[in-house]
Amino acid sequence: MGSILVLAEHRQGVLRDVSYEMMAVAPKLAEQMGTDVVALLIGSGMDELAKKMAAFGIKVLVVDDPLFKDFNADKYQKVLSALIDDLKPAVVMTGHTAQGVDFMPALAIEKKLPLVADAISLEYAGGTLKATRQLYSGKANAVMAFKPAATYLLTFREGAVEAPDASASGSVEKLDSPLKEDLSYRKFIEYVEAEVGDVDITQSDILVAVGRGLKEDKNLPLVEELAKAIKADIAGSRAATDAGWIPHDRQVGTSGKAVKPKLYIAMGISGAFQHIAGMKGAKTVVAINKDPEAPIFSVADYAIVDDMFKIVPKLTEKLKELKG
Ligand SMILES: Cc1cc2nc3c(=O)[nH]c(=O)nc-3n(C[C@H](O)[C@H](O)[C@H](O)COP(=O)(O)OP(=O)(O)OC[C@H]3O[C@@H](n4cnc5c(N)ncnc54)[C@H](O)[C@@H]3O)c2cc1C
Repeated sequence: MGSILVLAEHRQGVLRDVSYEMMAVAPKLAEQMGTDVVALLIGSGMDELAKKMAAFGIKVLVVDDPLFKDFNADKYQKVLSALIDDLKPAVVMTGHTAQGVDFMPALAIEKKLPLVADAISLEYAGGTLKATRQLYSGKANAVMAFKPAATYLLTFREGAVEAPDASASGSVEKLDSPLKEDLSYRKFIEYVEAEVGDVDITQSDILVAVGRGLKEDKNLPLVEELAKAIKADIAGSRAATDAGWIPHDRQVGTSGKAVKPKLYIAMGISGAFQHIAGMKGAKTVVAINKDPEAPIFSVADYAIVDDMFKIVPKLTEKLKELKG
């Protein structure tokens, strides 16, 4: 059986968290399948990143060429297509990220291979590879069984598992680039860093985050008062930023910011995976939601199942008292 080929994703010279996280699932799957894990890096000047991936005790294949200085989905597809022919991997796994979803479906069509996107766990038993995905914003899980194929394609969700420590030693092998000349039909133009507003929530120690449960912006002072009492910054879900209640640069989640405060108080937020991926780094999570089944409770250290309009004023009062 071929290896499990894991594409290590990087941006601006830094490996993305999902590259490390896949090192928690790929080795377990390799054990079940009776094969090994091989990481693949595509880029230009990849030596340092290759060493970091090799520290997971695996072989790292590197396609290092100025042609890959900037991400281009079509170029990645060409490289992976050629490597599937050459290496015949049992599985090709990438992050379920803007990059991964840009070329994996096209690769699946090109190679006529089965793809499960956005997997959160994997299992191989009795000759069948199964991938679990979430449905309805995390309210239900679906287990997808792959039809037998020479190579299975997978995109794995960011933030679904914790990255393991890297303390072993592996090897690095450079490959000739299967792509010999630039592609003219899709060009990288420029990398635009997201603007940081008046408050950079990625640096906040305490965040009070609001969601659709706030209902309307006239209710915002309730939250502002709590934030003021504990010197917190205000953040929110995409529902809250889309509604215009808080600025877009305060959005937490996959299409917002990843935050790592000491305390994260989520109120009226359901806990869609896109949101949880952005706040999983918080040390302590307090969630207030009137729905006991809300997925946010699965990551909460303290769960308050109640109406935020009842709880927040009481919490503010109590915290003021304690501080006083
Ligand atoms: C490609 C893509 C990217 C996305 N990126 C992000 C992202 O970066 N960040 C993000 O947050 N979302 C993102 N989303 C959207 C995400 O899927 C959810 O739709 C969104 O997070 C829901 O926001 P919410 O929890 O505030 O609202 P809802 O899901 O509507 O939840 C509102 C919650 O408030 C509770 N509630 C209502 N009234 C009260 C009350 N009085 N007291 C207490 N609780 C109450 C309800 O029980 C409910 O659980 C993305 C979606 C897609 C498709």
